[in-house]
Amino acid sequence: MIKISDITYGYEDKKIFKNFNLSIKKGEFLMVLGKNGSGKSTLAKLISGIDLPTTGKILIDDLDTGTDDIWEIRKKLGVIFQNPEDQFVGSTVLEEMTFILENYDGKNIDLKINKALISVGLMHKKNESINNLSGGQKQKLALASALLLKPKVLVLDEVSAMLDPRSRKELLMLLKKMNKGGVTIVYITHYVEEVMYASKCLLLDQGKKVREETPRKFLEGDLLKYNLVVPFHLKLLMKLNKNEEKYKLENNQCVVDKICQYL
Ligand code: ADP
Repeated sequence: MIKISDITYGYEDKKIFKNFNLSIKKGEFLMVLGKNGSGKSTLAKLISGIDLPTTGKILIDDLDTGTDDIWEIRKKLGVIFQNPEDQFVGSTVLEEMTFILENYDGKNIDLKINKALISVGLMHKKNESINNLSGGQKQKLALASALLLKPKVLVLDEVSAMLDPRSRKELLMLLKKMNKGGVTIVYITHYVEEVMYASKCLLLDQGKKVREETPRKFLEGDLLKYNLVVPFHLKLLMKLNKNEEKYKLENNQCVVDKICQYL
């Protein structure tokens, strides 16, 4: 679905990616993690064709971001950033979505808008001013707007960063549902607990792949080195395992027994 082959990319004199390769299969839910400055957003911009690699190539469903029509690529790929307001052009939910369809696909506008709004649970806000939406609702609107064009891939760059835990969970459950419906997802985050929604995790450090593995394997590795937001129970598990003992995530009783020994 997405193939990044031997790319090089950087800003001015700073190289971020050097001979970087990555394949993302159709239907995958890839989470990209890494500390600030590790190249996550740059990767999102490269995959979306916003930036082009200096050397090497990126294929989205066999279309080359460097040479093929960017509008054809954009039809396959929805992109959502941390501050969706920056992407909105309408003043109400309806205006925003109508604008998108009028520019890309003008048939059955109302039906398509209703379907997309229902799928993200925002139908009751159809005529609402965007300014009155909460952070989570704005991200849902961005998602509904992306869904209007039936993308095969969704690229989401730190979309949960400003959301409260409940809205984050709601958004991730929506994405999981879309993923089960066949949409390939590339999701950038620094919240470790979100990896349970993914099928694969990629850890970046200074533009290099440090790890590329299943969420389970990822959680068993050393997470404290990379400035990620690690939930308390995982930190505790890692501290307990420092003494060479192997406590597993699912083995709660064993972990509780060990903690009791310290009390
Ligand atoms: P992340 O998303 O992991 O925080 P970024 O991809 O935003 O990382 O940034 C990777 C590196 O590239 C950082 O060192 C950052 O300072 C630099 N960088 C990002 N955008 C620009 C830019 N527009 N101009 C110059 N340097 C940039």
